Amino acid sequence: MVIVKIASKDARCNPQLDEALMRLAGQHTVRYSDQGFGVAQVRNRAVNRFLLEDAESHLLMIDADMVWLPETAAMIEDPRADIAYANYADKMGGLAHGGQLGCACLRISRRAALAITPPWFAFQHDAQGCADAACECSYFRAKAQAAGFTPTALCNIGHIVPVLAVPDGYAVKFQPLRVEI
Ligand SMILES: [Zn+2]
Repeated sequence: MVIVKIASKDARCNPQLDEALMRLAGQHTVRYSDQGFGVAQVRNRAVNRFLLEDAESHLLMIDADMVWLPETAAMIEDPRADIAYANYADKMGGLAHGGQLGCACLRISRRAALAITPPWFAFQHDAQGCADAACECSYFRAKAQAAGFTPTALCNIGHIVPVLAVPDGYAVKFQPLRVEI
């Protein structure tokens, strides 16, 4: 498997993921994405390079702000589905994309990557081009389904998100910091 850590504007120091990737590097090709592009381009470049340069059967992309959980190993070990993803919490304190495919931890088989016409990922804009109307995940999900693939949720992955910490007696309670993105 080719595993690519996807840098994004939210990327920050995340030694937990780096340690998980270092462990996986013994048996898999692990690489780190380019910086300086929009995240949709970064994902497209990862798929394009996988198709052009690699011989492995699957590509796994993991965003830099995700936290590898023991169960996330299913993304490596569970062979079900040409397109598989892990569920994660969004920055608003809910399940990202309502449990539908999100790109933050996404596995694509070579077969599926070849069957889907590029670009694989793109942001959709409103008619005036002034605002994002849909993220690159829903764009990819629609193209995958049109190509005959059924994205499958295999497990969960952690997500580093900003939270508000509030004293609660001698303890602290954490609540989502509702950051609009
Ligand atoms: Zn999305």
